[in-house]
Amino acid sequence: MNTENQNKLIIISSPSGAGKTTLCKLLLKKMKNIELSTSYTSRNKRLNEINGKDYHFVTKEEFNKLNKKNFFIETARNFNNYYGSPYINIKNAKKNKKNLLFDIDWKGARKIRKNYNIKNIIDFFILPPSKKELQKRLIKRGRDNKNEISLRLSYAIKEMQHYNEYKYVLINENVQQTVKDIVKIIEYNKLIEKNNIILNKKLKKIINS
Ligand code: 5GP
Repeated sequence: MNTENQNKLIIISSPSGAGKTTLCKLLLKKMKNIELSTSYTSRNKRLNEINGKDYHFVTKEEFNKLNKKNFFIETARNFNNYYGSPYINIKNAKKNKKNLLFDIDWKGARKIRKNYNIKNIIDFFILPPSKKELQKRLIKRGRDNKNEISLRLSYAIKEMQHYNEYKYVLINENVQQTVKDIVKIIEYNKLIEKNNIILNKKLKKIINS
C-alpha cells in the first residue's frame, strides 16, 4: 500500500510540567502540515486557555453524553476530570491532508496504537530533565494550587514509568531544541517511507524482468 501521502497520527505524551504544552504550540507553528487534535475535557478552563482551541470545555454530564454516543476514539480520567479525543478530528485531518497532533497521556496513546495502523503513528514521550526541575516548572507556571501541584507531581512519577511504550523518548532540556528534534524525526520518517516505496517499485521491476 502506498502510505506516502497518508496523514500521520503524531502523539506527544509527557507528565504535566515537562513543557509539553509549549512544545506542542511551537511544533504547530513550525510545521505547516500538522493540526492539533483538540480534546474535550470536563476540567475547568484556565485563565489563558481558549474554549475550542486548547480544549472543548464541557460539563461531566455533557462529556458522558458524548461518550455514550461513541463520540471519542479514546477517553481518560486524570486528576478527577475526563479527557477525550473525538473521532471527527481524524476525519478532518484526513480531509485536510494534514498530520494530526495528539497531546494525550500514555493511556490514550495505548488506545490509539491498538486501534490504528502502527505505521501511521509516530509517538514521542517527553521527559523533564529532573524531578527537581519538574517541580520547579509546576510551581513556576503558577496555575495550580499546592494540593494540585503535589497531586500532579506524584502522578508524573507514575506516568514517567511508561516512557518505554513510545518509539521516541526525548529529554526536554531546551524546548527549541526538542521541537527541532521532533521535526527532524517526523521528516526522517517521511524520507524512510518514501525510500521504501521507491525500493519496493524497483524490487518489483527486478523480480518481474
Ligand atoms: P491538563 O489538564 O494539564 O491540560 O492535562 C492533563 C493530562 O491529560 C495531560 O497529560 C494531557 O496530555 C492529558 N490529556 C489531554 N487531553 C487528553 C485526551 O483527549 N485524552 C487523553 N488520554 N489524555 C489527554
